[in-house]
Amino acid sequence: MKSTASHEIVIVGAGVVGLTTALKLAERGVVVTLLDRQQAGHEASWAGAGLLPPGDLTRAATPEARLRSYSHELWPAFASMLADRTGIDPGYHNCGAIEVASSETEHEFKEHVARWQAENIRLEHLTAAEIQRHVAEMDDRFTEAVYLPDFCQVRNPRYLQALRAACQQRGVEILEHVHALDISRKEDRISQVSLGDRTLPFDQICFTAGAWSAAVLEPLGCSIPVKPVRGQIVQLQLPTQPFRCVIELGRRYLVPRRDGLILIGSTEEDAGFAKHTTTQGVAGLLALATTLVPALAHAEVVRTWAGLRPGSPDELPLIGRVPGLSNAFIGAGHFRSGLQMSPATGTILADLMLGQAPAISLEGLQPNRFSQTTIDNGCPPVAESSAARR
Ligand SMILES: Cc1cc2nc3c(=O)[nH]c(=O)nc-3n(C[C@H](O)[C@H](O)[C@H](O)COP(=O)(O)OP(=O)(O)OC[C@H]3O[C@@H](n4cnc5c(N)ncnc54)[C@H](O)[C@@H]3O)c2cc1C
Repeated sequence: MKSTASHEIVIVGAGVVGLTTALKLAERGVVVTLLDRQQAGHEASWAGAGLLPPGDLTRAATPEARLRSYSHELWPAFASMLADRTGIDPGYHNCGAIEVASSETEHEFKEHVARWQAENIRLEHLTAAEIQRHVAEMDDRFTEAVYLPDFCQVRNPRYLQALRAACQQRGVEILEHVHALDISRKEDRISQVSLGDRTLPFDQICFTAGAWSAAVLEPLGCSIPVKPVRGQIVQLQLPTQPFRCVIELGRRYLVPRRDGLILIGSTEEDAGFAKHTTTQGVAGLLALATTLVPALAHAEVVRTWAGLRPGSPDELPLIGRVPGLSNAFIGAGHFRSGLQMSPATGTILADLMLGQAPAISLEGLQPNRFSQTTIDNGCPPVAESSAARR
């Protein structure tokens, strides 16, 4: 491996994973070129809600908990470094979250509470009166809830702007609207990356193309089981912030921003690459909001949008070397948690590409974990089941 000073890495896909990886590499002296076929940070990473659930590395016993907890540890310093360095406040703050139970979500609620407790995450069981103290206008049929004081949020579009600016300050070359990307493979290596009129020098390449990762890798003979899972969001506006904490019911939630905006999220749909909102999706989210907080029936609907989460069969990301390729890495498949897990993922990918041991075990996150057998080109087959103003 070359010395770090002359090390060159190309990253394909400038979502939150590509941007954090680029920044972490550039901070260590690597020459990074980050490519996107459109404007950086305008896909799933922009569309997300910015929920950052807590973690505790000392008690994290699963791959998901390890990555989440490692990120939880990195977030405060990472967010303030971005704000100091770029002057763009990513809106990271500790807002707390209430998880409420309903008859439909009772089972899920109990599972979540047991998981938080097993992980030693701070949690308070709330009485009906205490629920009302956190959210004065919560419907009084919700009488069972827990409060997670260490739950945080980030204003993801601003986070992405800050990441982009920090990358540029560190000398990352960000090439957007790249349409003539041509990547060639020779035996077990990526041999060439060209942009039509320009061939990029590189020692290693990293694929961070989110829900499009399978399509990017497929022409190179590599099958990875990442597919899009659509999520819709409705944004409301109120004159002031009506409650401070996130409210979760099952896998859906309300996220209050400090300026009175509220995000209602989100659907989980297998709709291919169709990235539009639907009548049913929006109606369901509005119904969720008014079920939880009836007064929201009078709030102004500002906008709606949808994004494509990169889903994997076990809902966990693939982080590491692309199976069958000795000079290529991947960071994809973060599904519902890519924003939360981005500081850890970027740090880990930078460690791996520089031959350093990451701070946590990557057991359960390896890109080759879905392969039953190795096919001719050394790549795993696709698993059967896988088929503004903000
Ligand atoms: C509605 C919704 C709510 C969410 N809420 C949360 C949340 O609260 N908390 C959380 O942690 N996560 C959340 N997520 C998930 C999170 O947004 C994703 O896991 C994360 O953004 C994935 O980041 P990424 O960089 O892998 O993908 P993306 O942000 O999609 O970036 C991939 C990039 O690759 C580029 N690309 C694709 N193909 C090519 C190509 N051929 N050449 C060059 N570039 C290419 C794309 O243009 C894109 O910019 C949410 C997602 C959605 C949709």
